Amino acid sequence: MVQAKDHIALYDKNTVHLVFMSKVKGLFLGQTPSIFPYPKPLSKDEETLRLVIESIDKFLDEQKEELASHDKHSSQPDDYIQALRELGLFGVIIPEEYGGIGLSNAGYSRVLQQVARHDGSTSLTVGAHSSIGMKGLLLFGNEAQKAKYLPKLATGEFIAAFCLTEPGSGSDAASIKTEAKKQPDGSWILNGDKIWITNGPIAQFFTVFARTNSDGGQLSCFIVERDQKGVSVGPKESKMGIKASATSTVAFSDVVLPPEALLGEEGKGFKIAMEILNNGRTGLGGGCVGAMKRAISLARDHANERKQFGKAIGEFAIIKEKLALMTAAAFATESIVGIVGDLIDSREEDYSLEAAISKIYASESLWMVGNEALQIAGGTGFMSEYPFERIVRDSRINLIFEGTNEILRLYIALSGFKYAGDYLKGVGKGVSGLFRDPIKGFGVMYDYTQKKISEMTPIGRESFEFLPIPLQEYGGILGALSAQFAGQVEKVVRTYGNGVIGQQLISKRIADSAISIFVGFATLARVARLVEEKGEDSSALEIKIAQIVINTSKRLVTERLRGLRANDDPSILSLGEEILKDGYRWDLF
Ligand SMILES: Cc1cc2nc3c(=O)[nH]c(=O)nc-3n(C[C@H](O)[C@H](O)[C@H](O)COP(=O)(O)OP(=O)(O)OC[C@H]3O[C@@H](n4cnc5c(N)ncnc54)[C@H](O)[C@@H]3O)c2cc1C
Repeated sequence: MVQAKDHIALYDKNTVHLVFMSKVKGLFLGQTPSIFPYPKPLSKDEETLRLVIESIDKFLDEQKEELASHDKHSSQPDDYIQALRELGLFGVIIPEEYGGIGLSNAGYSRVLQQVARHDGSTSLTVGAHSSIGMKGLLLFGNEAQKAKYLPKLATGEFIAAFCLTEPGSGSDAASIKTEAKKQPDGSWILNGDKIWITNGPIAQFFTVFARTNSDGGQLSCFIVERDQKGVSVGPKESKMGIKASATSTVAFSDVVLPPEALLGEEGKGFKIAMEILNNGRTGLGGGCVGAMKRAISLARDHANERKQFGKAIGEFAIIKEKLALMTAAAFATESIVGIVGDLIDSREEDYSLEAAISKIYASESLWMVGNEALQIAGGTGFMSEYPFERIVRDSRINLIFEGTNEILRLYIALSGFKYAGDYLKGVGKGVSGLFRDPIKGFGVMYDYTQKKISEMTPIGRESFEFLPIPLQEYGGILGALSAQFAGQVEKVVRTYGNGVIGQQLISKRIADSAISIFVGFATLARVARLVEEKGEDSSALEIKIAQIVINTSKRLVTERLRGLRANDDPSILSLGEEILKDGYRWDLF
């Protein structure tokens, strides 16, 4: 048995990296994700981050009443936006050579976390600019485009917006109708209508997606300036939450774009849009973490102050349970958002599944945490005079935009099925003759994972000896879960083949399991790092958090995998179809 003192040596020898081969996709083959040791923040960011965070707190602490008033009046006044510019918040992720602060993705996420600790709308105004509005320019812009725009975007003289959604095209982004027609001289004529564009009313720089009449009508991406003839912006939308952040339509009528307005390659617009959204996910994740920390802090204060039945309500077990589960969710979210930031900063090629998991988990955790904070506050929570209801209203959008959580779940499951299917095909080639149908013919992964599960029992600590001793049991739980998960993935792939694309309820269970296992591993890796750094005694609370998160994963994954075999899907689907046809039809009287 390896002792706790040896763990650092193990890390240093990269033993862990040799044992563990891949991240979320690997989970679909039963592998433990290679996220140990948990990444450290980039040291180059630390000093800058400290200064930025201090100035955010200094400014926003003084704005408490103004922020409530912005929400009430659904507007951020010009002088407030100007103050955000002066704080440098529009240039956080822009390299220093273009006048920005040049933070890493992980650092940027931390900045948005700090902003969101004060206000969701401000976090969105800043986040939509950096995460999606001008991210295409950073990722795909040529030198001339960067030199022209980044300095203005860094100061906030130009605020950016991302224009993909249209009246007829939301989740099905590939179906957009906005069109850019190429002219003989290489210029383009842009026509179309975009809706619900964050920062639309205040942006001068638009990243616009349009169908181009080359390459079979595929999408391309363009830079469009607000002042160009034919660009118009609608009135601010009235919304449920993030009310102060400005949302509007943006319309393009015969806008003439020069050839150099094309961003990235012609015909690659869909890929560009998806990469921007993936790359921007640390912003949304950081914002969710900040809002959760704020909600927990407010709920804690209320639980300590409010007395009922002669006691502070915090003394009741149900309130303690709420605070504990809120905390575990916030910690787990922060752990996974940190991993995604590190993957992006280390220029990992494919982090789209990890990013999708972080978006789903962050948004749903915040929705739970905000709601529970409001519940702890009781009637006070419902009153607009207090901050709870605004946190709940502001957090709801995160489950919808930047890819709905339903679409992202399907993406996670289908990508994983494809990866597992390709792996099975690959193995099929290696032992040709055994396989009549490479996908349906053979239980390679199933046999492998069954063996792995049997090795894991009874406690499964053996493969996780590199972890601090109190965490080995949790490593074993996750290891066994991922083996069971991969076995079920193979069964699904063998049963349905390509037809799995139509099996949404199965895909949802598989995605939920992948999310839960990966979140468990992310939390475990972070806590392992803390135990290595601080020692077991000082990490007792974090070990409890790992226990809560991982045992929750175990319960959820067990339930979801069981649901693959035993479920009410046929009845549920036929009831859903009936309701679609004739609606709800029962009255008691
Ligand atoms: C406040 C706000 C700000 C926004 N900011 C921007 C922005 O800056 N730029 C931008 O381009 N867009 C923006 N959007 C648009 C946002 O990205 C879209 O709302 C989102 O992509 C979902 O599209 P939709 O609303 O048309 O929903 P739909 O696609 O119509 O989906 C409706 C429901 O059906 C589900 N659904 C759809 N397809 C499937 C399927 N195949 N299987 C199962 N379920 C499915 C969805 O998950 C959802 O629950 C914003 C939206 C809002 C509300």
